[in-house]
Amino acid sequence: MEKKTVKTDLVIIGAGPAGMTAAIYAMRAGLSTVVLEKGIVGGQIAQSSIVENYPGYVSITGMELSEKLRSHVLALGAVIDEFDFIERVEFSGEVKRVITESKVYEPTAVIFATGAVHKPLLIRNEARFHGKGIHYCALCDAAAYKGKTVGVVGGGSAALEEALYLANIAEKVIVIRRKSSFNAEKAIIAKAEQTPNIEILYNTDLLDAGGENMLEYALVTDVVTREERKIPMSAIFAYIGSVPQTELLRGCIKLDKRGYVVTDEDMKTNIDGIFAAGDVRSKRYRQIVTAVSDGAIAALNAEKYIVSMKKGMVQK
Ligand SMILES: Cc1cc2nc3c(=O)[nH]c(=O)nc-3n(C[C@H](O)[C@H](O)[C@H](O)COP(=O)(O)OP(=O)(O)OC[C@H]3O[C@@H](n4cnc5c(N)ncnc54)[C@H](O)[C@@H]3O)c2cc1C
Repeated sequence: MEKKTVKTDLVIIGAGPAGMTAAIYAMRAGLSTVVLEKGIVGGQIAQSSIVENYPGYVSITGMELSEKLRSHVLALGAVIDEFDFIERVEFSGEVKRVITESKVYEPTAVIFATGAVHKPLLIRNEARFHGKGIHYCALCDAAAYKGKTVGVVGGGSAALEEALYLANIAEKVIVIRRKSSFNAEKAIIAKAEQTPNIEILYNTDLLDAGGENMLEYALVTDVVTREERKIPMSAIFAYIGSVPQTELLRGCIKLDKRGYVVTDEDMKTNIDGIFAAGDVRSKRYRQIVTAVSDGAIAALNAEKYIVSMKKGMVQK
């Protein structure tokens, strides 16, 4: 069956905070806008039990915030197409195309806001304690562990930065490192080693986590002696990497060495008319507020680009 071709000003790929904010700005600028989402609206926040650092809400559940985003975008008249799988994108020709299972979109501009997913710890009780002691973002969830003992798993700079951040909140931070050294900047390793309430366990592997309702301990093993022990702690923060959702862009947009999209501060990629926003971008801080900021900037610059294309001008 031939696919229906849909011409539109803007296609936004990803309905997380970045994509949904871009949609709000695009609709208010009068752009015809389609948001394509492979899962459900909200992105990572839909999996977040409580959000306590989004301005305007002292505390809100991730699902509630996601629903508020959805109703805001729908109220402005944007089309949100969930579950229509994108097969490929074509950005090299004169006409940009986003080809889904059922349609061929021909937008003037595209905002890529597909986010990232954290790598799982792959321990047996990971799902059981997800949000009940197992976390992937200290900035998001550390406040609940004031004065407690927490663990950090990981071997890169991100893990040590999070350990240093947690050391200001928790009573003690235990860094669990499988190898005998870190794959991190020397200065940050030294800082972590010199912080009195950070203990580093080298050659130690996390085997599992346990507890009644909430996490109470980490089960670890010494990778040299194979001796196992339980370490009491209230939380484990995992920093073993995240994976940007950029498979569609491989080979057609400039990515950094970890696969994140390279943009300038206007959220422009190396291809005119293609913008990126949110966690999928190569940047330092990945939070809801940084994602919504990116989304707004991307939409405002996409609008400029679309207007210039309609007037037949080349955008600077
Ligand atoms: C458990 C958890 C708790 C968190 N808690 C907080 C918190 O309390 N405060 C805070 O500020 N931040 C928190 N964060 C981080 C925050 O959620 C992210 O920084 C934010 O969601 C990034 O928004 P985004 O729109 O860039 O990407 P995402 O939220 O990742 O959304 C991207 C969307 O794109 C979709 N997508 C991906 N690929 C495709 C494709 N090929 N086609 C169509 N759609 C696609 C995805 O399904 C997803 O819906 C948390 C993250 C997690 C995982």
